[in-house]
Amino acid sequence: MKACLPQKAVIREVGPRDGLQSVRTLLTTEQKCEWVREALAAGQVEIEVGSFVPARLLPQMADTAQVLHYARTLPGLFASVLVPNLRGAEHALEGGADLMVLPLSASLAHSMANLRKTPDEVVGEMRRIRAARDASGSKTLIEGGVGTAFGCTLQGEVKASEVLRLMQALLDAGADRVSLADTVGYADPVAVARLFEQALRLAGDRFWCGHFHDTRGLALANVYAALQLGVDRFDASLAGIGGCPHAPGASGNASSEDLAFMLASMGIDTGIDIGKLLALRRKVARWLDGEPTYGTLWKAGLPGHFDRPHLAG
Ligand code: ZN
Repeated sequence: MKACLPQKAVIREVGPRDGLQSVRTLLTTEQKCEWVREALAAGQVEIEVGSFVPARLLPQMADTAQVLHYARTLPGLFASVLVPNLRGAEHALEGGADLMVLPLSASLAHSMANLRKTPDEVVGEMRRIRAARDASGSKTLIEGGVGTAFGCTLQGEVKASEVLRLMQALLDAGADRVSLADTVGYADPVAVARLFEQALRLAGDRFWCGHFHDTRGLALANVYAALQLGVDRFDASLAGIGGCPHAPGASGNASSEDLAFMLASMGIDTGIDIGKLLALRRKVARWLDGEPTYGTLWKAGLPGHFDRPHLAG
């Protein structure tokens, strides 16, 4: 079984976007920049730094352009942003993001609530974004993130056939990459194995990332199921913060520090210095005083003998 697991994996930090959009506390631009800088110093080379949504909808994301501008001054950082539509994508292109993620909800009900568009209308937006990117000559990559891929709080069941149809449609519309998200924490390892296997067959090298929420405690188990298929990039959020304003009860991404610990324990190199990440967690949790935070490693600490035990072997 070990032979099937990747030797390296990337934990893409989505705390500054997925995490902060779901908390009431507004961090300052300076705090966000400090977070990004220190996450990179801890070895997190891919960070989703914000979201180009209208500030009246998500005031937490109002300074995304400034945070992106700062992120681009940091050598070695691959900075991504979330864009809900063409207008957001134009900001991402202007700001020189390395990658922009266009989310698409496979659940019609969630898509209408979250984006006020049907999933197929979002595919149309992907086509326009691709055209805008190509016309601008920009190198910004475009990822289509298929969310509510395992079900939806509003709609209930979301059919795998519909998830895969929309993923193919995003690829056909010009997405450079696609990913799958369990937006509300309905997935389990067997469901992940089944859907990811089909998605990998469909997207091949263009499959990019798994995004799991820990709403029901299964995020790390779901990561493991995807790892076994060779998936080597996962979204996670420091202190496990995150959620979705239109997915009632959804809480918490996989916690970055817990995931980093799991992968290192398994001998999978993430390049992350877990001690530094835990120190950053303490700082961010202090900034978010009174907000719920998650994860378990921060309570117990690293095991006494822990020194990336399997990396040498
Ligand atoms: Zn999420």
